[in-house]
Amino acid sequence: MSARFPDFRLGKVLATSFTGTLSERHGDAVERIPTPNRLVDWLAVSGLAVESCTTAQLERAWELRESIHAAATAAARRDPLPVSAVQVINDRSTRGRAAAILTPEGNRQWRLGSASSVEDALGVIAADAISIIAGERDGKLALCASPTCQAAFFDTSQSRTRRWCDMNTCGNRQKKARFNAYKHETPGPAK
Ligand SMILES: [Zn+2]
Repeated sequence: MSARFPDFRLGKVLATSFTGTLSERHGDAVERIPTPNRLVDWLAVSGLAVESCTTAQLERAWELRESIHAAATAAARRDPLPVSAVQVINDRSTRGRAAAILTPEGNRQWRLGSASSVEDALGVIAADAISIIAGERDGKLALCASPTCQAAFFDTSQSRTRRWCDMNTCGNRQKKARFNAYKHETPGPAK
């Protein structure tokens, strides 16, 4: 259906899955939500189905995404939070009108406001970002060790020693690079 767009990388944490829709920020950046419809697709698979999305709403989503990225990166480095990023996150959070709903099976779902609008979905994402940046959730913000990525991710491993935003992409690439470097240094068994 949308084969010409890059796949989504979906993690367990909403806010950092969202920032992951732009990857390789320090290399050849990959935009995974390049069009309003692609944002609609991403929101649907993230439990935030909306009816439609305009170009202006997509631009607000990108602005929120980069603000979360900036604030989460600063938090991971223990730097002061950038004021403008905090303002964007707060604006989006206060403008959303979503409600948490408990299902009969005991799961939480989000019910967006009457228009099921992108603004309501962005409000949920902003609130999720606030909870991890504020340190309210069990885990630690960290930065991906891949030099071309450096994405902020939320490490919920027991040891809090995760190094890559995603084992299947950045982690794998790094392992392969190390393996190739090793082969290069040790050309044969005679050494
Ligand atoms: Zn990464």
